[in-house]
Amino acid sequence: MATSLGSNTYNRQNWEDSDFPILCQTCLGENPYIRMTKEKFGKECKICARPFTVFRWCPGVSMRFKKTEVCQTCSKMKNVCQTCLLDLEYGLPIQVRDNGLSVKDEVPRSDVNKEYYTQNMEREIANSDGTRPVGLLGKAPSSSDMLLKLARTTPYYKRNRPHICSFWVKGECKRGEECPYRHEKPTDPDDPLADQNIKDRFYGINDPVADKLLKRATTMPRLDIPEDKSITTLYIGGLGEDVTDSELRNHFYQFGEIRTITIVQRQQCAFIQFATRQAAETAAEKSFNKLIINGRRLNVKWGRSQAARGKESEKDGVTESGIRLEPVPGLPGALPLPLVSDEDASTNYFNLVPTNSPAVMNQVGLPPPPGVAMPPPPGFGPPMFHAMDPMAPPMPPPMAMRPPGQVHYPSQDPQRMGAHASRHGGL
Ligand SMILES: [Zn+2]
Ligand SMILES: [Zn+2]
Ligand SMILES: [Zn+2]
Repeated sequence: MATSLGSNTYNRQNWEDSDFPILCQTCLGENPYIRMTKEKFGKECKICARPFTVFRWCPGVSMRFKKTEVCQTCSKMKNVCQTCLLDLEYGLPIQVRDNGLSVKDEVPRSDVNKEYYTQNMEREIANSDGTRPVGLLGKAPSSSDMLLKLARTTPYYKRNRPHICSFWVKGECKRGEECPYRHEKPTDPDDPLADQNIKDRFYGINDPVADKLLKRATTMPRLDIPEDKSITTLYIGGLGEDVTDSELRNHFYQFGEIRTITIVQRQQCAFIQFATRQAAETAAEKSFNKLIINGRRLNVKWGRSQAARGKESEKDGVTESGIRLEPVPGLPGALPLPLVSDEDASTNYFNLVPTNSPAVMNQVGLPPPPGVAMPPPPGFGPPMFHAMDPMAPPMPPPMAMRPPGQVHYPSQDPQRMGAHASRHGGL
């Protein structure tokens, strides 16, 4: 019986030599002109123990240096980043992803079986066209409701910050400003993110982050259906600059006949009126918390009742029949929507809703609390509730959301700014 050690020490063909790492956008960092060092067979892969090419780079100003931890075979096998081991498509731990897709882990843990398995997978990867993950993952359904709810849509660069200085926490750091580590109080000693194990993450077992996410997924807010049956309009918030009428139509036409789509550019929201209540209910159920267009998670709520709308429409310069009247010039405009601060949104790494936020954002029939809901400016669409919007992504998306199931390695994307330069200049 061959031992795994054997092939690693004499069979150099087995060793991996690669030109560019497989990384997620977060690990890669913000700067498109990144410099990397490359060390052939620099380390053993932390999963399969075979030597592989190690890349090292700094993902941004005052960030800590990062390096690749697992080989590309292991990374491709699970469709994860070589450094953080989070899924490349959803930015989630393997345990969460496999749970969402109902994929059962099949990677053997014993050395000999593992090696045999890795070789088979390598062959499968070599024979594939590279657009779909290999193995069971490639055959899994392309997405699930839970994953869409939890998926990250924007990079989380704060994850690349230096670690907290353990000396400083004890009050013993003498390096002051020069200290490369962070002088901050640890936020939460019980934070599961503090105790991560690369093997558990890879095999998708006992991953504390995954446990927390899976638990939260079951308690995520639901959208209550308004009692007023005349409401057939959905409010879509957080559109940003670039979501168009036809993109909205492409998503929503599947639920039934759409009467109108009104985009309110200034408030980056839209109102979609369906012909039937049933269509609106289906659309709300299938879109709430899961609608991602152009890499943006859109905020779906119910519109306001017709009665309330009629009254306010007149007041706002839109007549009952929907004809928009010219706004009177010189009037003060509406206050801007309450914005989520960058801080809040970016610490919400896994799109977990803070526990203190209301489960239902939009209670039809109740007057909005003072100071939260402002009437829209004259001439701007039908009225609506401007509820707080903890889900709105504040940052522009790094790239268009790709079709489900397709493998995308941001670090190997030739479209990415600076990709060319870094390949030839930085390595
Ligand atoms: Zn490996
Ligand atoms: Zn990563
Ligand atoms: Zn320090």
